[in-house]
Amino acid sequence: MANARCSCGALGLTLPDEPKAVIACHCIECQRRTGAPFGAGAFYPVEAVAISGTARQYTRDAASGGKVHSYFCPDCGSSIYWKAENLPSMIGVALGALTETSHLPAPAKSIFERSKHHWVQIDSAGEHFHEGSIVRHAG
Ligand SMILES: [Zn+2]
Ligand SMILES: [Zn+2]
Repeated sequence: MANARCSCGALGLTLPDEPKAVIACHCIECQRRTGAPFGAGAFYPVEAVAISGTARQYTRDAASGGKVHSYFCPDCGSSIYWKAENLPSMIGVALGALTETSHLPAPAKSIFERSKHHWVQIDSAGEHFHEGSIVRHAG
């Protein structure tokens, strides 16, 4: 099993070792959520993820329609996972929240490149999208 956690450790996730997908997202909302030039997430089946601690939820409209719910620690503010109404079977986990990353594959998809910072290059991605991908992401 793998683990993810917020800065202070009050909010944590237990995850399968292998994510179903790893995606880099350059949408403005991921940039705002993370404070970083892009967001990177690993996606897991929702029933395979165990959550410990209490998260606060922030809900926004997704670019692809529906809502995206982001979950963050009310104590330290780290945003560590999200769920999209368009992809109800999956949970997205911020790559930076994972405690052990050497086993994780590099992002296979780079999406919402229309708002990508010009100096960012996701060389590992075999698929690049101007907007969202076919598998609807929480973008
Ligand atoms: Zn915390
Ligand atoms: Zn995004």
